[in-house]
Amino acid sequence: MLEFVHRYWDCPPIIPRCQWGAAAYRGFPFPFALPLPFLYIHHTFEPDRTCHSFWQCSRSMRAMQSFHQEDRGWTDIGYSFVVGSDGYIYEGRGWHHLGTHTRGQNSYGYGVVFIGNYSSSLPSRHVLDLVRQHLAKCAVDARRLQANFTLHVHRQMVDTSCPGDALCSEIRGWEHFGKMLKRQFCTLKAQGRIPLDLPLRPMKAWLLAGKRVFLE
Ligand SMILES: [Zn+2]
Repeated sequence: MLEFVHRYWDCPPIIPRCQWGAAAYRGFPFPFALPLPFLYIHHTFEPDRTCHSFWQCSRSMRAMQSFHQEDRGWTDIGYSFVVGSDGYIYEGRGWHHLGTHTRGQNSYGYGVVFIGNYSSSLPSRHVLDLVRQHLAKCAVDARRLQANFTLHVHRQMVDTSCPGDALCSEIRGWEHFGKMLKRQFCTLKAQGRIPLDLPLRPMKAWLLAGKRVFLE
């Protein structure tokens, strides 16, 4: 019962890939080590038209995936999740697989994009809350995002105007927004080295143990 409540109440409606007509992933998706510490917010900018129906939004999804696969040469649609103004979130790479959305930071967080150009206007409050209230809570409850996760907008990480001035100002008022970017960026770099060191640790321990045994 609790599982049911969590899935259908706390989690927003997520349209799976098969439902929007996704093409197959090219190659093998790279799995994340969950829970992740970051969530990155984007807007699609182009095309700047928002979509207001499942038909329009799923067509945008297919066009975006085709652009990312054919023109950019990526393995799949870049974003983890895509938010339509039809009140649905569309599954991109999803919860478990590394995306291509925030250069240099893809391993550390989910990339969520709002379809449209939000330089001078905002998605509706209902659509914003799909991410602010429901997607974030769902992700923390299911241990996909860390409970103390940090929220960033794309422009904090690289030289871009994404996700537009209006959406950027909105996100700055959200819970978990990471203002102390410099410090967090340094922390992020440090965390990035940890997985590379991991395979060495058992080896070092083994060597040390062996040496001790040898000396004894
Ligand atoms: Zn972006």
